[in-house]
Amino acid sequence: MILSKAAFIVYFDMAALLLLSVILLTIFVKGLYKQKESKIFTTLVICVIIDIVFDILASYPDMIGYEGLIVLDTLYFLFRVTIPFLYFLYLLQLTDIWFKFDKIYKKLLVAIPYWASLILIIINAFSQNLIFNINPNTLEYTRKSIFWVIYGVQGLYLILGLVLILQHRKIFNAHQKFTLIAIVPLTFGASIIQYFYGTFLVELFCQSIAIYLISSSIETKEMLIDDRTRLFTFSSFRSFIRRAYLNKRETHILLLKVLNYSELYNLLPYEDAIQYLRRMSYQFSHKYKNIDENYNSYYLDEGLFAEVSYSYDALKEIAIKMNKELGSRRSSIVEFVPKKTICLLTIPKVFDNETNFLQFINNFHTKLDFDHEIIYLNELYRTNEFIIRNNLDSILEQAFKDNEFEVYYQPIYNIKEQKFTSAEALVRLNSKKYGFIYPDLFINYAEKNGKIADIDRKVFYQVLDFINSNTFNNLGLEYIEINLSILEFIEEDIIENMTKALRDRNISIDKLNIEITEKSTSSNIEVDKHIIALAKRGIRLSLDDYGTGYSNIERFSKLPFELIKVDKSLVDDSEKPNMQRILKNTFNMIKDLKRKSVVEGVETKEQAERFISYGCDYIQGFYYSKPLTLEQFIKFIKNHNK
Ligand code: C2E
Ligand code: MG
Ligand code: MG
Repeated sequence: MILSKAAFIVYFDMAALLLLSVILLTIFVKGLYKQKESKIFTTLVICVIIDIVFDILASYPDMIGYEGLIVLDTLYFLFRVTIPFLYFLYLLQLTDIWFKFDKIYKKLLVAIPYWASLILIIINAFSQNLIFNINPNTLEYTRKSIFWVIYGVQGLYLILGLVLILQHRKIFNAHQKFTLIAIVPLTFGASIIQYFYGTFLVELFCQSIAIYLISSSIETKEMLIDDRTRLFTFSSFRSFIRRAYLNKRETHILLLKVLNYSELYNLLPYEDAIQYLRRMSYQFSHKYKNIDENYNSYYLDEGLFAEVSYSYDALKEIAIKMNKELGSRRSSIVEFVPKKTICLLTIPKVFDNETNFLQFINNFHTKLDFDHEIIYLNELYRTNEFIIRNNLDSILEQAFKDNEFEVYYQPIYNIKEQKFTSAEALVRLNSKKYGFIYPDLFINYAEKNGKIADIDRKVFYQVLDFINSNTFNNLGLEYIEINLSILEFIEEDIIENMTKALRDRNISIDKLNIEITEKSTSSNIEVDKHIIALAKRGIRLSLDDYGTGYSNIERFSKLPFELIKVDKSLVDDSEKPNMQRILKNTFNMIKDLKRKSVVEGVETKEQAERFISYGCDYIQGFYYSKPLTLEQFIKFIKNHNK
């Protein structure tokens, strides 16, 4: 086919140029070129723009001249075959299977058709008998015998791309799939039009439409970049994770939860809080590039950050640094000290599917309150403890259904009377599937998800049944201590229900003593009101775990606690001379304030004697007895209180 260049209709190219320029501008203004696939996409856009320019220029042969036309058309074809190749590379990156092309020969293999066509085009520039020919006199343009190679290579990469999309269809939503595939019919359609109506330059126009579609569904700001932190968004994290699972690619993830991030919004005006968050994010995403150039930072909302890398060692180093550095330097604007949990793990090793993993990150910080600052999940995930923590929802649900909560009783020794006059009720979860589970593992979690009230109610009624029995009357015990989570005090009717239950059974209210932990009593006027109300109804109250939280002496001296329970951690330190001085004074002070003291966690004879010498009133600890089942407890008291 012979075509006179002067007859070309370039309006389509012009329109495409405009469209792509806007897309390119958006990419740069919004900073959407940061991920690898986005970089390839940006290159693709630039490539099409350049090609359009060549196409337009080549439509003015008289201006360009013979040699100029050959150069322009050669360049046009070089870029033209680059476009489908880049599109294919983009898909390789988007589906994240490029890492499978780890060997040089594999990389070369994918590119062979591309290189071959480039070579043909360059040879053609000199011989003019393969792809196209320009008549030096008329400047007319003729397609040559193997022009089809260009279409062939183009078609090959488009079809390979189509296969990739279909293989990875799960990682795209319907809209994305549609826009990714659109380039195939658009390119083929355009080629047909241009084949029959050679003067209509619609091929690049159609490809521009396809590019526009992709930019609207995948390379969008909402999908990629979080406004506040300028890190990648949760949705880009999700598609990243989905790809990792689909390709079974080992990926290391660092999760960092700022536990008190909402304080930030309380402490600061909104704009300043965002500013703070942004600075923190900048630190996350830039500061550790010297350790691993290729890690990516995501902001998953609600104070949760994720760093992703393919090198575990690098990520571990980053985790250690972050743990040390985050919050060590106080911000100049605010006294905000971030509290955090950091968790390092490898997928798909630790969670074998995407759903489990996403479920885990949603509330991992409430489940994993291990003592360590950095949780190396790869080492922990097979342990019983982790399995239990991670399945607490279903374990608790099962426990309620099958009544798996049991109350144990730990005898409390009364020093003055030299016998056991009370006991503490402690809950145990006897799970059919996991065996005995201690409260340390589930109480905190139950407090966070609100199940604690149901647990405490179960304990309360079991204890009531015991107190209401003849056996209890015969044991000569004064009262039983139960632990109540402070959260429950906020609801007035719990107190109402409790006192009513006691009344219904004709149980004297002083048979019960309620322990409240000091940690939770850290200053809350509402809570104080309820504590006072309880005492007014005649319920005995203890302050639990004294010495662990904020020991607000002034406050507890105002609140009506009858017993002060000195925490085991102070007992553990009681060898130290300084601590002995503190302890002596503590017991004196408690006496002065006309309260009684209990010391918890006494394990040896020496400790017991020491605390007796300090003037402590009661002792609770393994030295006397561990927590016992009801049956064992009854036997124990009968034996010891003769
Ligand atoms: P807590 O109220 O301070 O209870 C004392 C804890 O110290 C118990 O742990 C007890 O077994 C342990 N202990 C006592 N003497 C010794 C000793 O000599 N050595 C050692 N190593 N430990 C000793 P447990 O039963 O595991 O309970 C842990 C915590 O869980 C309790 O601390 C309490 O805060 C909470 N808890 C237990 N039962 C309930 C409950 O029914 N409701 C609520 N809300 N919390 C509960
Ligand atoms: Mg207690
Ligand atoms: Mg305690």
